[in-house]
Amino acid sequence: MIQELPPKSIAVVLGTRPEVVKLANVIRELGDAALVVHSGQHYDDSLSKVFFEAFELATPDVELNVGGISRGAQIGKATRQLDELFSQRSPQAVVVQGDTNTALAGALAANAGEIPLVHIEAGLRSFDRLMPEEHNRVAVDHLADLCCAPTDLNVANLAAESIIGPRVVETGNTIVEAVDELLPSIERRREIRADFGFEFDGFVLATLHRPENVDDPDRLAVVLGELSSLPIPVLYPMHPRTAATIERFGLDGKLEGITVTEPLDYVSFLGLAAESAVLVSDSGGVQEEASIIKRPVAVVRRSTERPEVQGTFAQLVERSIG
Ligand code: UDP
Repeated sequence: MIQELPPKSIAVVLGTRPEVVKLANVIRELGDAALVVHSGQHYDDSLSKVFFEAFELATPDVELNVGGISRGAQIGKATRQLDELFSQRSPQAVVVQGDTNTALAGALAANAGEIPLVHIEAGLRSFDRLMPEEHNRVAVDHLADLCCAPTDLNVANLAAESIIGPRVVETGNTIVEAVDELLPSIERRREIRADFGFEFDGFVLATLHRPENVDDPDRLAVVLGELSSLPIPVLYPMHPRTAATIERFGLDGKLEGITVTEPLDYVSFLGLAAESAVLVSDSGGVQEEASIIKRPVAVVRRSTERPEVQGTFAQLVERSIG
C-alpha cells in the first residue's frame, strides 16, 4: 500500500475488461490514493462489472459513459470529460494501461493538464497500421512520462522511437499477478469444465471479436466455418459485438456444432483455458494468459504485438514432441 499519497490523488483511467484485469493490482496497491475513472468503453456488465467483482474492487469513483460510439467520438468525448475532471480534482499523476481509446483519451487529457502520465504495458508494437490499437499505443507511449514496459523487446521498441532513459522501466506484465490470483484450483477447474461436459485437453476455447475477423461477413463466415469443422468440441464465449454482427449478417447457421455462451467471468475463463487443448483467439490478453498457464494458443490475426508468446508456443510444441 502506498501510504504517503493523499486520498484520490492518482487518477487510474480504464474502460475495458483487459484494463480492469491488468490494473486491478495497481489500484489495490494505490489503495485510497486511487481515483478510479471508468470510461464505459465496455459498458456491458459481462465485460465490465463482473471484472470489478472478480477482483473485489470497489465500483469506479467516476463513470464517463462513452460506450457505443465511433472511435473518434469516443476519444473526443472521453478526453473532454477527463480534461474537466482533472482540472477539478488536480490528480498528481494519471495512470493508463494498454492500447484502448480510453487509454489514449486519458493520455491526451493528462498531457493537456500537464499532469505526469504513467503508461502500463508500454512498448508493444504490431507494426500493423491497420489496427487502431497500434496508433493508440504509439501515441500513448510518446505522451507518457513513465513507460512501464513488460519485456526487453518492449524496451527495445521504445528505444527505436527514441523513448529512452528514466522515462522507461522494465516491469514485467501485471497480468501475471492477475492470473496467479484468480486461476481456480485444479478441483474447481474440473467442475467448471464438467459443467460444459468437456474432457480435460479435449476441447478448444475460442475468443474472436476483432474487426479484422468479424466485421466482414465473408471472412466471419470462413472463421466460423473453420471453427465448426474442428475435430474436437469448441466453446466460444461470444463478445456482444460479435453476436450482433452474426445476427446482422444472418450467419447463425455457421455456428452449428459450436457451443456459444455469453462472455465468461474471468475465473471461469481462466479455469477453462487451463483445461482446454488449445485456445484460438484474436485477443491480446489471451495470448499472454496462454503463455502463463502454458496452453498453446493459435492467434487468428494478421499480426501480433506479443511475439514473445510465439517462443512459448514453440517451446511447448517441442516439449510435447520431445
Ligand atoms: N476474457 C474473459 N472472458 C471471456 C473472454 C475473455 O474473462 O469470455 C478475458 C481474457 O481472459 C482476457 C481478456 O478478457 O484477460 C481479454 O479481453 P479482450 O479480448 O476483450 O481484449 P484484449 O486483451 O484483446 O485487449
